Amino acid sequence: MDRHTGNLFILSAPSGAGKSSLYKALLQADDKVRISISHTTRAPRKGEEHGREYYFTEDEDFLDMIAEDAFFEHAQVFDHYYGTSKASIFNMLEQGLDVILEIDWQGARQVRKLYPDAIGVFILPPSLKALEERLHGRGTDSDEVIQRRMSKAVAEMSHYDEYDFVIVNDDFDTALTQMQSIFTAMRSKNTVMKQKYGNLINDLLSL
Ligand code: GDP
Ligand code: ADP
Ligand code: 5GP
Repeated sequence: MDRHTGNLFILSAPSGAGKSSLYKALLQADDKVRISISHTTRAPRKGEEHGREYYFTEDEDFLDMIAEDAFFEHAQVFDHYYGTSKASIFNMLEQGLDVILEIDWQGARQVRKLYPDAIGVFILPPSLKALEERLHGRGTDSDEVIQRRMSKAVAEMSHYDEYDFVIVNDDFDTALTQMQSIFTAMRSKNTVMKQKYGNLINDLLSL
């Protein structure tokens, strides 16, 4: 098999729609998929670890990284900075791994400009009521934070049309199967196969 790069996926959704649950299940089921770990200036939530969910970073250090051009993309979401470092994705893509960016729509726009082959997947909740219930059920955010996230949800969802694929996360297993199907199908894109099986294709066409 020839050398090939993995696919870059952008996963977006309003907070609480289930994107973290979905990508975690996908990572467990598929050893060719990795998640990019973002930097953020927000405080860790209960149970979150530096280097696992995020690289938790001081404002000052984040601004230094911006100045050093260390970010592939970054954005301000709610009251904090979030960003994807260049280092966190290119090594993995070069190893042929698929990389997921769990980023908001602003970041997605930046990534599409920088990397037009990126594949966008948007997760929708089955209803606004379900979204609010999930945010409460997760038990990680105060009522005030939940209200702010709910009021931002509609704005985030209004960008669903900028993505290649849309999944409604109603039944979790159905949504997971849909995600897995998208990842699998994208590995057979002509541009990918050309890279991966260039020698075979040359042989087949050389009679
Ligand atoms: P969640 O939405 O409840 O999972 O909360 P998170 O704190 O994990 O994510 C908050 C927001 O930041 C989400 O909209 C993410 O999509 C976005 N986000 C996370 N990482 C990045 C990143 O590296 N770049 C950009 N642009 N957005 C990100
Ligand atoms: P996000 O990463 O988009 O903020 P999470 O993955 O943290 O969302 O999901 C929010 C909450 O909803 C979690 O408590 C999760 O267990 C729950 N959840 C996710 N998907 C479903 C689903 N299909 N049905 C019911 N609850 C779900
Ligand atoms: P949370 O604080 O709930 O973890 O994340 C809040 C929002 O920030 C989410 O919508 C998430 O997608 C977004 N986000 C997380 N990491 C990044 C990142 O690296 N870049 C950008 N632009 N947004 C991010």
